Amino acid sequence: MLATKLINVGDIQTVDVDTPQPKRGDIVVKVEAAGICGTDRHLFKGEFPSFANTVLGHEFSGIVVDAGSSKLEIGTRVTCDPNTWCGACDQCRKGRVNLCVNNIATGIARDGGFAEYCAFPAHKAHVLPPDLNPLYGAFCEPLACTIHGMDIGDARAGERVIVIGGGVIGLLAIQLAKLAGAQVMLLTRNQDKQQLGQSLSADFAASTPQEALERWPDGADLVVECAGVEATVKMSPSITRTGGRIVILGVLPQGTQVSIEPFDLLFREIQMHYSFLNPFTHERASKMIANGVVNVAPLITREISLNDVAQVIATEASNGEVRAIAVP
Ligand code: NAP
Repeated sequence: MLATKLINVGDIQTVDVDTPQPKRGDIVVKVEAAGICGTDRHLFKGEFPSFANTVLGHEFSGIVVDAGSSKLEIGTRVTCDPNTWCGACDQCRKGRVNLCVNNIATGIARDGGFAEYCAFPAHKAHVLPPDLNPLYGAFCEPLACTIHGMDIGDARAGERVIVIGGGVIGLLAIQLAKLAGAQVMLLTRNQDKQQLGQSLSADFAASTPQEALERWPDGADLVVECAGVEATVKMSPSITRTGGRIVILGVLPQGTQVSIEPFDLLFREIQMHYSFLNPFTHERASKMIANGVVNVAPLITREISLNDVAQVIATEASNGEVRAIAVP
C-alpha cells in the first residue's frame, strides 16, 4: 500500500509499504481522510521530537476492516485518538493523562494515517455515524485539543472572548466560545480568514491588537491564543481585561522566549494558562462532529491524494489555506 513516511528530519516520501498487521489490542482501518497539520511540518523540519521511518498522520478517520479482539463491527466508521497514554506513570495515575511520559502518538511515534490502511489500539477508536461526510472525521483530533483549551478557559455566557489566529484551531475555538454564549472576536491578519471566522459565528474580526482594543477598549474576559508565534503570545495580556484569563494553545518552537511583564499580570490578576493535547475530550469532539454542532466544511481548503502529501508537508501552507485533507 502507499504511505507517507518521515524517513528522517528533512526527508519525507510517499512510498510502497506492507499493509499493517494488527498487534494485540489493535484494529485496522481503511483511512478515509487525514488532515495535514502544522505539527507534520514541524516534524519534517526537526522542530518537534520525531521518530525516523514512521508514517505520519495523526488527524484521521476511517472504516474498520479488521476489528481484532474488539467489539467494533467491520464497516464501522471511526476516528482515531492518536494519544495512547500508558495509564501507569505518575501523571496518568493522577488523571493528567495528556502529560503521560510514555505517550505513544499514532502518526508521530507509531505509523499513522497518511496511508491506505492504519493499525491503532482499539480503545483509541471513537465511533462516527455512517452517513457523516467522510472528510469531517479528520477534524475530531484538532477539535478535541481545542475543547481542552476551551474547558480550561471556561468561557461563560455574556463574556467577551478574543481568539487569536484564524487557522483550524482558532476557527474551532470561535465556534466553541460562541456556543458557550460569549461575544467573540477573531484576531487574525488575513482578510479571507477574518471573513471565514465571521461566517463561522465570530461577531467581529480584527487584524491587530490595536484594532481589537478600538472595539473593546477594556479587552476580553478570555483570550485564546491559537497562532503559536512569539508576537501573539506577547500581545495576549494587552488585550485581556483586568481579572481575565488567557489560554495558550499555540505551540512555539522549543527554546523560543517571549517577554511578558509579570507586574502587569499580577496587578491586574490575569491568569495565564496552557493547554496541551486532548485529555478525555476526543469522544466529545466526535459527538460534536457527528451531530454537526460545529461547522467544519468551510475549513477544508483542498483535498489531495496520498501521492501529494510529502510535497505538501515539505512546503509552507499557502496564505489563506486552512486545512488540506489527504484522501487515500
Ligand atoms: P495555523 O493554521 O498555522 O493557524 C495559525 C494562524 O495564526 C495563522 O492562520 C495566521 O493567520 C495566524 N497568525 C500568525 N501570526 C499572527 C499574528 N502576528 N497575529 C495574528 N494572527 C497571526 O495553525 P493551526 O493548525 O490552527 O494551529 C494553531 C496553533 O495551535 C499551532 O501553533 C499548533 O501547533 C497549535 N496546536 C496546539 C495544540 C495543543 O494541544 N495545544 C493542538 C493542535 C495544534 P493570519 O495569516 O490570518 O494571521
